[in-house]
Amino acid sequence: MTSRTPAEQRSIARFQALVRIPTVSRLDETETDWQQFDRFVETLPELYPALHGALERELIGGRSMLYRWAGTESDGDPTVLMAHYDVVAATDDGWLHPPFGAEIVPDDDGDLIWGRGTLDDKGALVSVLEAVEARVLAGFRPRNDVYLSFGHNEETTGAGAVAIVAVLESRGIRPALVIDEGGAVVEGIFPGVAKPSAVIGVSEKGITSVMLTVEQLGGHASTPPRLTATARLARAIVRLNAKPFPARFSATNLEMIATLGAHATGPLKWVFGNLWLTRPLLLALFARLGDETNAMVRTTQAVTQLSGSQAANALAERAVATVNVRVAVGSSVEEATRHIRSAVGDEAVRIEALHPSEPSPVSPTTGPAWELLSRTISATFDGVIVTPYIQLGASDSRHFTRISEHVYRFSPFEMTGEQRATLHAVNERIGVTTWLRGITFYERLIGEL
Ligand SMILES: [Zn+2]
Repeated sequence: MTSRTPAEQRSIARFQALVRIPTVSRLDETETDWQQFDRFVETLPELYPALHGALERELIGGRSMLYRWAGTESDGDPTVLMAHYDVVAATDDGWLHPPFGAEIVPDDDGDLIWGRGTLDDKGALVSVLEAVEARVLAGFRPRNDVYLSFGHNEETTGAGAVAIVAVLESRGIRPALVIDEGGAVVEGIFPGVAKPSAVIGVSEKGITSVMLTVEQLGGHASTPPRLTATARLARAIVRLNAKPFPARFSATNLEMIATLGAHATGPLKWVFGNLWLTRPLLLALFARLGDETNAMVRTTQAVTQLSGSQAANALAERAVATVNVRVAVGSSVEEATRHIRSAVGDEAVRIEALHPSEPSPVSPTTGPAWELLSRTISATFDGVIVTPYIQLGASDSRHFTRISEHVYRFSPFEMTGEQRATLHAVNERIGVTTWLRGITFYERLIGEL
């Protein structure tokens, strides 16, 4: 056990209390236990009395929370610190320590807090609360308004964040800086670079579900036609898999390579430093190195759902495949749909994109918002390289790009590859020291707002 100050111990106890409230959001909202969400909302003022005395809180879109901390001058645009307090479902199955137990478990590298939401995303949410509470108690007030935006259904519809953006927009608010979950302080993600890197998501890929549908007259399976609806659909999927989207480096990819490459050692330093010559080679390398680097350089497609006939002995009248498509920054849902149509090459397969969400605009890597963020990271994490990247998954922050050009996705925590793999999976956990450093990050950031 590492020794902690009494203040740190109190912070840890509050974090544990909030992880123990199982705020599990479900796509079918009638299955969500809303009492747990109400409990969470009601517990916050008890745990953070100073914050709740100094900031106004509104409930928006049901149970999403928007706090406003009024600035002393308010002569500039406000900052928004985002997080979400819903978590994905977890049962005790496969967990070494129960998902809603918030147990502190000693480990070789120090204590860990174990539980669903410790990384995604109560870790960030509670450290924001801790930082604001400490600042309020110290008598601090920001110069410009600071908003805390806490979504209640990020893992499902994201409707809470959409509603908050609509409210801010109707009030004419244009945030100078928005920070949400996404990147983190990571090691070993980039070949040849040993130093830890703080990766900041400056954009995120688009997302859509492309439905492939084949309809046919049904009938008895004893007298099938030569090409059944299901076989035709299977053929379409095989054709689609054989034709991946083209790989391409975006401007952000190139900036990341230049930034991280400068810290590479050995022959890779030369490869990263001479892109004019090595670019095609490097692009091929990214596409092959792993699923993550491949996803960085192209639109990806994955068939996630299939359906056919209801009965074993009846031909399918309708065969449907859902293709989950993640659209590269610089491309569009329209372009992705066109690619799929041409790859499938069959008029009998109906192709339509559902719930299209375009790739986000790219936030700049220069200017006051970026500089404040990277300065705060460098002051908190010794010797890290700060780099932009394109976030592969979707977050609530994409809705904020409607009202701000400066949306950055970064959680101030060091995460190992193993820990990142526990997001949405079993045994999610965070180092206690790591989490406490996240509070320092937000305190430092708030001190400059
Ligand atoms: Zn999350």
